[in-house]
Amino acid sequence: MQANKKASVTKFLKKYGYWIGLAFSIAILITVITVAAVARPVTPDDDFTPVDTPTISFTNPVTEMTTLKTYSNTALQYNSTLKLWQAHKAVDFAADEGTEVYAVMDGKVTEVTYNYLMGNIVKLDVGGGITVVYASLASDVPVKVGDEVTKGSVIGKVSNTAKSESNDGPHLHLEVLLDGELVDPALYLDLAEK
Ligand SMILES: [Zn+2]
Repeated sequence: MQANKKASVTKFLKKYGYWIGLAFSIAILITVITVAAVARPVTPDDDFTPVDTPTISFTNPVTEMTTLKTYSNTALQYNSTLKLWQAHKAVDFAADEGTEVYAVMDGKVTEVTYNYLMGNIVKLDVGGGITVVYASLASDVPVKVGDEVTKGSVIGKVSNTAKSESNDGPHLHLEVLLDGELVDPALYLDLAEK
């Protein structure tokens, strides 16, 4: 009887063993894949975007971008108007008097002012903690505080109203504030191909 039973089990395994083994292997594989997918921890790093690699890009503030002076955070550049060496936390673009100046992004005008050193100024909040400051503009500024402007719309004209840079001729002095810090506008503008 015992031998008979053993023989039938052996017979059964010989007949179906391969398929049982295969089914077990597939079941284990599915289990492992499911557990791996479900158990994978979601860390805050998964959607972390470093601030120094901006995903936004500006449109040109003036059509022909002729860089007159680049940004420098600490390196001193000669200011021929003031006759002194200073950092220049902005980019200057040479352009003819009256050249149209454009909103580099959709944004909201937060300030329209004049000061002797930087001339007529328009500040544009473009979101993401970024404020764009346009200086040395002509006095007939077509926007006012509170205006919502669209990318590429005219927000002013180039002039030579910044007395601290007047020896450079008509130009746009463009600053970019990121969370209140003056950063290089070249982070958001492609100056090389212009
Ligand atoms: Zn400047």
